[in-house]
Amino acid sequence: MNRVGIHGMVWVGGTTAEDFETAIAGSRATGYDLIELPVFDPATMPVADIVRSLERHDLGVRCSLGLPRDKDISSADRATSARGEALLHDVISVGRDIGADFVGGVISSAMTKYMEMPSAEGRANAVAAFRRLAEQAAASGITLGLEVVNRYESNLVNTAEEALALIDEIGAPNVTVHLDSYHMNIEEDDFRTPVLVCGDRLGYVHIGENHRGYLGAGHIDFGQLFGALREVGYTGAVTFESFSSAVLEPNVSNTLGIWRNLWSDSEDLARQARRYIADQLGQPIRPDAAA
Ligand code: MN
Repeated sequence: MNRVGIHGMVWVGGTTAEDFETAIAGSRATGYDLIELPVFDPATMPVADIVRSLERHDLGVRCSLGLPRDKDISSADRATSARGEALLHDVISVGRDIGADFVGGVISSAMTKYMEMPSAEGRANAVAAFRRLAEQAAASGITLGLEVVNRYESNLVNTAEEALALIDEIGAPNVTVHLDSYHMNIEEDDFRTPVLVCGDRLGYVHIGENHRGYLGAGHIDFGQLFGALREVGYTGAVTFESFSSAVLEPNVSNTLGIWRNLWSDSEDLARQARRYIADQLGQPIRPDAAA
């Protein structure tokens, strides 16, 4: 069985206790097993309220983020890289406190359009930082996932092969590959090979359509992707990711390049995606989801 998750920003753009309750209740009511909560500012996360909501709705949790430019852990500038490491350190602590066993996303570089190649010094800074972060994460039972994203959102890790090479350099067993169908569609040859290349080092999978809208409305070969997951015996989580400026805060929406909306009804989108993923996995939706 694979646990099926949904990104919190399908539901809300804010980070108040009420926002998290809305997102967690919505995820549970539409049949998801877990929610992925983005942690952009660990200091302002209402940890106790989130824990209460997760318990009330019997939902699991994962954490993610994209590093901002001024906290680029892969920067050749040591102070910038150190700010990225400090942010990730705090995100891992929040993850531990809310009961997450995974922190992923665009964490091996900033989430931005780079106008230059990655540097050897910056890569070395990232590797050194991730060796320390992996130790911290391991002490809290947390696995890290380096999300493989397209060339317009990172210059360091655009393919599964590149992620594995970086992970080999880091050399920690709890640093894994985080794949995302939306990005694979742009950078990889197909949806099967990268999954096979990762094998048991695949830690997390984002399910997104090529235009980040309704699953099945675009051209991603989800049959090939889910077939590959079965082939390697992947037992980790698959999490639906979709964004609309109808929900997102403007700065997040703009960073993600959401210039047109493919949906406005979070609940309808979430239900459809949950059914779509259940069909692909051949696994039932948890039975007590509201109809
Ligand atoms: Mn993603």
